[in-house]
Amino acid sequence: MNLWDPRLMAGQAPDGPGLLRNFVGGSFVDAGTRFTKRSPVTGAPVFEVVEADESTVDEAVTAARAALRGPWGRLGERERAEVLRRVADELERRFDDLVAAEVADTGKAISQARTLDIPRGAANFRAFAEIVATAPTESFTTVTATGGRALNYAVRKPVGVVAVIVPWNLPLLLLTWKVAPALACGNAVIVKPSEETPASATLLAEVMAAAGVPDGVFNLVHGFGPGSAGEFLTRHPGVDAITFTGESATGSAIMRAAADGVKAVSFELGGKNAGLVFADADLDAAVAGSVRSSFTNGGQVCLCTERIYVQRPVFEEFTARLAKRADELAYGWPADEATANMPLISHPHRDKVLGHYELARTEGAEVRAGGGVPRFGDARDGGAYVQPTVLTGLGPDARTNREEIFGPVVHVAPFDDEEEAYALANGTDYGLAATVWTRDVGRAHRAGSRLDAGIVWVNTWFLRDLRTPFGGVKASGIGREGGLHSLDFYSELTNVCVDLS
Ligand code: NAD
Repeated sequence: MNLWDPRLMAGQAPDGPGLLRNFVGGSFVDAGTRFTKRSPVTGAPVFEVVEADESTVDEAVTAARAALRGPWGRLGERERAEVLRRVADELERRFDDLVAAEVADTGKAISQARTLDIPRGAANFRAFAEIVATAPTESFTTVTATGGRALNYAVRKPVGVVAVIVPWNLPLLLLTWKVAPALACGNAVIVKPSEETPASATLLAEVMAAAGVPDGVFNLVHGFGPGSAGEFLTRHPGVDAITFTGESATGSAIMRAAADGVKAVSFELGGKNAGLVFADADLDAAVAGSVRSSFTNGGQVCLCTERIYVQRPVFEEFTARLAKRADELAYGWPADEATANMPLISHPHRDKVLGHYELARTEGAEVRAGGGVPRFGDARDGGAYVQPTVLTGLGPDARTNREEIFGPVVHVAPFDDEEEAYALANGTDYGLAATVWTRDVGRAHRAGSRLDAGIVWVNTWFLRDLRTPFGGVKASGIGREGGLHSLDFYSELTNVCVDLS
């Protein structure tokens, strides 16, 4: 598939929408009905996608199971690491196609796809190649009742067939974050990308084949959730484990489906992340960091900040500067290097976000920036854009401050002391990420242990080391992935006990 056509990234499909198919047992297959993927930039159709029916999902599970019984199941860690490195090489070779696919599906700025989405996709494979090749396992020498000795050591084995279900916001990055460790541990995977972002996952299937990943180890099924490929996959008895990133409510539905087979689940779910700006902070850095944490990727990153609490002495200055910067964020076509804003993923998602803008007004918010839809006078008026928005004036119980919106919108409120700041930040059903801006070293470390979140950033945001634990507390997730934590989910440990006497 050659996607490198600037018109496609601009939301036009000059030769008609391209066809994206499922990938099962090493071949592309197109049995099933088709659905249309529309550009978020213009609303025009860009792809026709084959929706996997129940029998296609079944064939994918059969192919994955067969692959585990074949040569793939007998490879050692170092050989699998070598395969992962070949995948990374091939991803880098197809870099421009992958950038184009990601931009066509999401409308994100090409500069972001080039510097974040696609490089992180390749980095995930390189990182887990290193991690699996060097991972330790436990070993204990036991003194027995008779004074003899026994040696215990743990052996890592694949879990088996792993279903990988991911959302649309950072498609390749989030998909490879799960596929790389799953393959590193010797599993076979069936991936279901979001119906909104089918393109880069389809290219990943081509990459897998070109990199020599054996047939059936990587399978791809397109479709929706309920009554479609997502549900067929999660309730399939041949699936051993489910790794999922998406909304908390979808996590609940998947957990119910997984209960029957007592399948292992790893969930990376929604957030309502807080930023805390203390009066001693470097305010320039706090404003610049909060612009990034609130508006990157159109606010459609699970780690984005939707609530900022600012210590009262700097509240007015911070809020005015943030609102000014929000108004100044550049609109442009995705291919323009200067573009900062991007459309939301779809019109239904735009309706949801605009509904929240309206709700905030109804709740009594003051709109300090944005609050509506930009007008372009060109094809982008058919797209799913909204303005970056800064709100003030609501209490912690307002729905605007409790519900995940997943758009370029942030509410800013004042606080007086550190205890109040932690109480406000923690007063949510979610617990994914928090960001703290302060020059006080003691407070920086205190915040790390006082904030109920899987990740606490101090004087930065979205800085990731792939070896560190990643996940959420409360409604933001179950389990941790990253580094050895990923190996723990994607493998089973067998303890071998040898009597040495
Ligand atoms: P979503 O839950 O609607 O969909 C995610 C995936 O699940 C899609 O592939 C979808 O088709 C599938 N799905 C939906 N219902 C299903 C069902 N019943 N059974 C099986 N599969 C089903 O999420 P979304 O709108 O695509 O993504 C946005 C959400 O993802 C936000 O809540 C965001 O916070 C969250 N997210 C979390 C993280 C994290 O690491 N914690 C990262 C990115 C996004």
